[in-house]
Amino acid sequence: SSDPTSPLLHNLNPEQLAAVTLPARPALILAGAGSGKTRVLTTRIAWLIQTGQLSPGGVMAVTFTNKAAKEMLTRLGAMLPMPVRGMWIGTFHGLCNRFLRAHWKLAGLPQGFQILDSADQLSAVKRVIKAMNLDEERYVPKQITWAIAGAKEEGLRPGDIEVHDAQSRVLAEVYQAYEDQCQREGVVDFAELMLRTYEILRDNAALRDHYQHRFRHILVDEFQDTNKLQYAWLKMFAGPHTAVFAVGDDDQSIYAFRGAQVGNMTDFEREFKVQQVIKLERNYRSFGNILDAANELIAHNSKRLGKNLSTEAGPGEPVRVFEATSDFAEAQWFVDEAKQLHRDGVNRSDIALLYRSNAQSRVMESALFNAGVPYKVYGGLRFFERAEVKHALSYLRLIENPNDDTSFLRVVNFPARGIGARSVEQLQDAARTSGRSLSQSVGAVAGKSGSNLQGFVALIDAMREGTRGLTLREIIEHMLHHSGLVTFYTTDKDGKDRLENLEELVNAAEAFVTQEGFGKDAVALPVDEHAGALAEGLPVAVAAVDLTPDAETGEIMSPLAAFLTHASLEAGDNQAQAGQDAIQLMTVHAAKGLEFDAVFITGLEEGLFPNEKSVADINGIEEERRLMYVAITRARKRLYLSFSQTRMLHGQTRYNVKSRFFDELPENTLRWLTPRNQGFGSGFAREYQSAWQKGSGLSGIVGAGQQAPRPNTLNTASSAGPKTTTAQGLKSGQSVFHNKFGEGVILTIEGQGEDARAQVNFGRHGMKWLQLSIAKLTPVD
Ligand code: ATP
Ligand code: MG
Repeated sequence: SSDPTSPLLHNLNPEQLAAVTLPARPALILAGAGSGKTRVLTTRIAWLIQTGQLSPGGVMAVTFTNKAAKEMLTRLGAMLPMPVRGMWIGTFHGLCNRFLRAHWKLAGLPQGFQILDSADQLSAVKRVIKAMNLDEERYVPKQITWAIAGAKEEGLRPGDIEVHDAQSRVLAEVYQAYEDQCQREGVVDFAELMLRTYEILRDNAALRDHYQHRFRHILVDEFQDTNKLQYAWLKMFAGPHTAVFAVGDDDQSIYAFRGAQVGNMTDFEREFKVQQVIKLERNYRSFGNILDAANELIAHNSKRLGKNLSTEAGPGEPVRVFEATSDFAEAQWFVDEAKQLHRDGVNRSDIALLYRSNAQSRVMESALFNAGVPYKVYGGLRFFERAEVKHALSYLRLIENPNDDTSFLRVVNFPARGIGARSVEQLQDAARTSGRSLSQSVGAVAGKSGSNLQGFVALIDAMREGTRGLTLREIIEHMLHHSGLVTFYTTDKDGKDRLENLEELVNAAEAFVTQEGFGKDAVALPVDEHAGALAEGLPVAVAAVDLTPDAETGEIMSPLAAFLTHASLEAGDNQAQAGQDAIQLMTVHAAKGLEFDAVFITGLEEGLFPNEKSVADINGIEEERRLMYVAITRARKRLYLSFSQTRMLHGQTRYNVKSRFFDELPENTLRWLTPRNQGFGSGFAREYQSAWQKGSGLSGIVGAGQQAPRPNTLNTASSAGPKTTTAQGLKSGQSVFHNKFGEGVILTIEGQGEDARAQVNFGRHGMKWLQLSIAKLTPVD
């Protein structure tokens, strides 16, 4: 057909088509799992752009996880002939980060502000509690951290906390002190990203007006999981003429425990005067048995808006159920099955292992590791959260911002440089009294420890000087050597793994530079949504880190600042090598919106799934059931359910009874791989061995490809110096003139053509990274 839009609208059923082409008015799509909600949302964006009703800059789309945001960008990239990189598509946090980077002054933040992840946040709260001389037994840091996040998600500042007893008074005080500390250090936590963005828009009519006109269309996926603040935030961006397109499924609401409100859907319908609620009732994802199991399970819930879901695919394979004697045996069974699936032609990345809580992943990881099967863990013990990586990141953050006290404290005496806890306390006192950062206060500490502290600050300053004009990779290598981290882990007897992780950090930076498009454009993928076209590892644009140059000056974020932001926002994608086909491990929460050919739901035991914290009340059980519904509906072709009679968890052996959810699934959809029995206590203790395994023997199956060889980055001395690349007739070392920043000297040039950018030292104006296609630099001489 000559109609350029037809390929886009081709693969839609009538209801989906109606939804995609709805007029530009608020709309709600309420539909079950796998009915094409996300497909409709993505196609609508592409259709609006392709038919000229909307420019790429006029749309904002929000999803819940980084993985979902990436997939959306990949799908869009495949549908549109233009780069999708600059588009406002991402998670709530990612978009807030981008917003605050653009309006840092208005937000009262330093330009290079950094983001606290949950571990940083906890340690920051601990410091506050200590400084206030509070008893940690009574005021448990974890609970206070949780309470502060909860308050922020309710839109409450310290002054808004209702004080009715000693406990709440202390909470308000700690909250206030924590805020002051964050402000001093130039850091923000996740909830702060949201709240601050909301407040800026609430308090600035002109800015609000600007965004309300800019975004003609706002599309929200997984709307059922928005909380109060997110909904209020959305209303700031949505003006009277904004077409808000919300898609959701009340049966998949799984964040009520974090304050998400299904009620937002009914509020939305009323407040936005939604004229049309579209329902999609056909499931395109799963075969009949899987869908029947999901439907029957969720029918046990009482609070539902009510939807039907059917499929035209046949019943497919039965749902396989396995009872293990121990968590270890369960893991072994899983590895065997997964390997068999892979031999049968299923990509590893199309196999997902889901669990209720992160702690369950370790035994699975070690079984996979021992079998040499590549895997990738989302969330949980993340690469960027490992101690040695955090040490390295702290040095990098100090290079970027010497006043980052969190980082300062982490590495001031790591590796050891004779700075004891006493002198650090002295330093903290001095900093508190003067209201300055730790780094600015080292002069106030006397004696030997004082000079050691000054030595540390001098070391950081020297690193900042020494890394000028270097590429990101070279900066990290320089830091690793000069900080003493490499020497430390080389001599440490357990340091080998840690050294490898530091090498991996260099690799991560390298991958980041390529993926973020420092020098490369996002690759558009061919239109093929089947057979794992959303291939892992292809360079995909990520919206979380915004590298759009300033339209006027051409200034961009430095690669280091961008990488540090990336590390906080996007922790955790690093176990398998980029591009390697790997089994996907994640919690059920993290699996929301995703789909896989084969899904294993493990640890289906009373107390674990459903979780013991929620079994006491009916709301808790219903939320667990929705979570189970989400888990089941991730599967396209094969679904496996497993539980174990015993399990080591948090250092204790637990004796388990199988989950009540087994009694809520239609028996005719299940096939028990082990004799159906009553769980623990029945005396059943056969070690599992699958039929194919007996047939093929135990040896020689495992591929040796787990660890691809990689360059030993740390042992080769880095011989980095300013680059002599040239671009646009400019070269490093040259003096240039910029309209706003005046005269400066080019330190380094990277990238080519449209993507060429330069680091320039403007003296009084400091160091800037500039996009050369925008910044008009003229040579001086
Ligand atoms: P969830 O509730 O789990 O987020 P969803 O409603 O967002 O699910 P999608 O992920 O958009 O569903 O779609 C599920 C699968 O069905 C995808 O693989 C999608 O490509 C496919 N699909 C959706 N609509 C159609 C259609 N009309 N024809 C063929 N395949 C479709
Ligand atoms: Mg979806």
